[in-house]
Amino acid sequence: MVKFARCNALLSLAIGTDGKGCRYVAKGESENDVVSDMASHMTSVHQLEGPEMTENILAVTRTHGS
Ligand SMILES: [Zn+2]
Repeated sequence: MVKFARCNALLSLAIGTDGKGCRYVAKGESENDVVSDMASHMTSVHQLEGPEMTENILAVTRTHGS
């Protein structure tokens, strides 16, 4: 089972590295994997970090195929 979260579900106006709407999708085997993948993307690309990010990421995490 693969879990994923879309950056543009978290930050609707996020701009990606190419200057367009960010289409980054964090994926992982577990919610923790998705959170850590997305958190590192948020920090490196959008300069966002903080304890509230975890909760926000979990809120938009979906399970593939469901
Ligand atoms: Zn992004």
